[in-house]
Amino acid sequence: MALHWKILIGMLSGLLAGFLFKEMGLQQAVVDWIKPFGTIFINMLKMIAVPLVAVSLIVGLADLKDISKLSKLGGRTIVLYLFTTVCAVSLGLILANLIKPGRFINESSRQRLLEGFAGEADEKIKLAEATKEQGPLQPLVDIVPDNFFGAMTDNGSLLQVIFFVILIGIGLIMIDERKSKPVVDFFKGLNDVILKVIDIVMLFSPVGVFALMAALIVEIPDFSTLGALGIYGATVLIGLALLIFAFYPTLVYLFAKIKPGQFFRAISPAQLLAFSTSSSAATLPVTMERVTDHLGVDDEVSSFVLPLGATINMDGTALYQAVAAIFISQAMLPVPLGLEAQLMIILTTVLASIGTAAVPSAGIVMLVIVLGQAGIPEAGLALIFAVDRPLDMCRTLTNVTSDTAVSAMVAKSVGLLHPPQSPVNEQP
Ligand code: ASP
Repeated sequence: MALHWKILIGMLSGLLAGFLFKEMGLQQAVVDWIKPFGTIFINMLKMIAVPLVAVSLIVGLADLKDISKLSKLGGRTIVLYLFTTVCAVSLGLILANLIKPGRFINESSRQRLLEGFAGEADEKIKLAEATKEQGPLQPLVDIVPDNFFGAMTDNGSLLQVIFFVILIGIGLIMIDERKSKPVVDFFKGLNDVILKVIDIVMLFSPVGVFALMAALIVEIPDFSTLGALGIYGATVLIGLALLIFAFYPTLVYLFAKIKPGQFFRAISPAQLLAFSTSSSAATLPVTMERVTDHLGVDDEVSSFVLPLGATINMDGTALYQAVAAIFISQAMLPVPLGLEAQLMIILTTVLASIGTAAVPSAGIVMLVIVLGQAGIPEAGLALIFAVDRPLDMCRTLTNVTSDTAVSAMVAKSVGLLHPPQSPVNEQP
């Protein structure tokens, strides 16, 4: 059975089990006895992500053999990432202005949500304060680690790992080949080992997603609050669906000559994992494996483009932040936002999505900054909490899809898109 079917079956049975356990009042049993298997699965993926990024990037850079190729690759990647993000934000703004989801929420639901989720909103606002207090160049400073091992830990970031490894890769290209070859050979061997470890971890994926889905259902807040937010949720979902099913397949078909069916078959396990884990970073090992082996993107491209994308390219998050900002403004402000404020939203949302960490719920923290810049009351964040988790799952899926699409386009543009190595249905 193909991997995506196994994951899908795990997800659906997890959802079903979640509902059943909830009905039977066994929420705590799910949290105590089932959820930990989901956490173990996410931990295993995260555990392998940093070594994979570091080792595959060293191998990729060493194979490039030419530093000017790196700047060409880097330039195209950044331009495409920015392009897709600006398109996503603009689509979000257009949809939110057309559908006007904020007009569909009545006064009693508004009060109920504002009061019911005020605590959660406060917590996120406080988290965002730290980012707001930073100087303008702090994000740049944050890319450079003062300690490589620190960068590899939870307090570091993938961008710091990428920065350090690029320097090592450039060093390797610049030294004599007799000296660099044993080092590169070592990392090539290690890379193969890590890819095998990912295969092993993925054997556990149906159980992992089963546990994640069951835990999601028993932990989701009261379903009755969802009704009032239906139109808002639908606006975000319509936007994300347009990106996933129309925008990316078209780009990939036009610029990489990959048919939509082939594209989706290749990346669907990564998409399903993104949906189940709500984390682009945790999904990264699988995204890299699928894109390289099943989409035909050369290691030299995927090892650079995908980790960078997981960290800075968040189209789904950007679209969601734009819709949420307009929704909150419509529900909280007496007059609609003017053009100037909306243009401000485009700018801040692009930056906020770049700054969003690739972990669950990070998008809602950075939304605080977008709201602040556009003059929308931050307390309005409480309005959207009830549906944030399912939307987080869908925006993460979109973020990962975007990274894969851009990697295919970049690979094609530099002549590094090959026929896929393994048949699409092959076992992990
Ligand atoms: N969970 C998302 C991701 O990992 C980020 C977000 O919260 O929007 O891509």
